[in-house]
Amino acid sequence: MLYTLKDLPEDLKDKKIFVRLDLNVPLKNGKILDNTRIREALPTLNYLLEKGARLVVGSHLGRPKGDGPEDRAKFSMEPVALELGNLLNKEVVLIEDPASEVPRGLLAESRFDKIILLENLRFAPGEEKNDVRLCNDWARYVDMYVNDAFGSCHRAHASIEGLPKIMKFKAAGFLIEKEVVALTKVRDNPEEPFVLILGGSKVSDKIAVIENYLDKASHIIVGGAMAYTFLKAKGVNVGKSLVEESKVSMAADFMKRFSARDKEFILPVDHVVVRSLNKPEESQTTSDENIGAEFLGVDIGPKTQKLFARYIGDAKTVFWNGPMGIYETPPFNQGSFAIAKAMAESSAMTVIGGGDSAAAAVDSGHAKDIDHISTGGGASLEFMEGKTLPGLAILRKK
Ligand code: ADP
Ligand code: MG
Repeated sequence: MLYTLKDLPEDLKDKKIFVRLDLNVPLKNGKILDNTRIREALPTLNYLLEKGARLVVGSHLGRPKGDGPEDRAKFSMEPVALELGNLLNKEVVLIEDPASEVPRGLLAESRFDKIILLENLRFAPGEEKNDVRLCNDWARYVDMYVNDAFGSCHRAHASIEGLPKIMKFKAAGFLIEKEVVALTKVRDNPEEPFVLILGGSKVSDKIAVIENYLDKASHIIVGGAMAYTFLKAKGVNVGKSLVEESKVSMAADFMKRFSARDKEFILPVDHVVVRSLNKPEESQTTSDENIGAEFLGVDIGPKTQKLFARYIGDAKTVFWNGPMGIYETPPFNQGSFAIAKAMAESSAMTVIGGGDSAAAAVDSGHAKDIDHISTGGGASLEFMEGKTLPGLAILRKK
């Protein structure tokens, strides 16, 4: 159980609250390409604002290497400040140095009716180092701490772990609550049949997830480039497809251990292939699971779409991580779209975790009929692996 907003003191009027959000939106030339992360933060912000709290909001944005002028321009929260102001219809004051004392004076104003947004927290050298001094600097001017940055909870950074450690009043926001409820259900208590669908480029990214579900999943479906490593382990011809040679024997071992429970990994039975990634228009569909020597696999084929959809249709719980093909290059998004469609149409509890699979699901147009799409890429995967996320552990009720 986490401390939630309801656990904060009843009277929040004029209380100064540090709110850690994940406003790490995709930017291009200073324009926000997708404001989902900002919109997802609104319920918590509105709740605190309605109670009359005074908010200092912090988030990281991208991966600045330092705080030099180039990085400061490229990774500035300025577009976020504008968008946040528009969505909340409030004045947002952007504080240039996230570690400065400036917020203290603003928060003390008698008629305070704005939101303070700190510049990119990673401009502060202490943020990623989880520096106690930085935490103390913040703690000196706020009364309480709220974290709603689920996507950052796997990082033991100052604004995620160090600050709540020294705050008496702390809580998780609504987004974290929603994420934890949905992911916990799938991880700890999935109704069976429980179908785990994995894809993406690398087996090595997903080893811990597979390990955690070998004794729990009813079926494990593997698509994406990952599948070629499994197929190779079974002696299938995969041509020039992406294979992690160093993981072939591990894939064989996974399949062997799963079969000890009388279960089989469900792998693609046909593929969309190309001779070269530079010629996506010359793609072909294979007739079976074998791929010719000059070809590489870029998506699951139509028979595989149907096969995977059947398992999804019969499931009671489905968790999907990792696209079925190179979805960034249409038409190699069709396999992933078919999975999203089958999940949307299934009566199962359906959850997607992973940045790319979530993006593919949104592109497919089926996102609204999926029970939960996690906003945390790496964080949701680590959660599903059963790892302790430092940002959540620190908010756990004693
Ligand atoms: P997620 O973000 O959902 O966890 P990953 O990051 O693990 O997913 O994997 C996404 C990447 O996998 C995408 O960039 C996609 O292009 C790549 N991918 C999927 N299928 C293939 C394939 N057949 N060949 C090469 N790359 C693939
Ligand atoms: Mg990814």
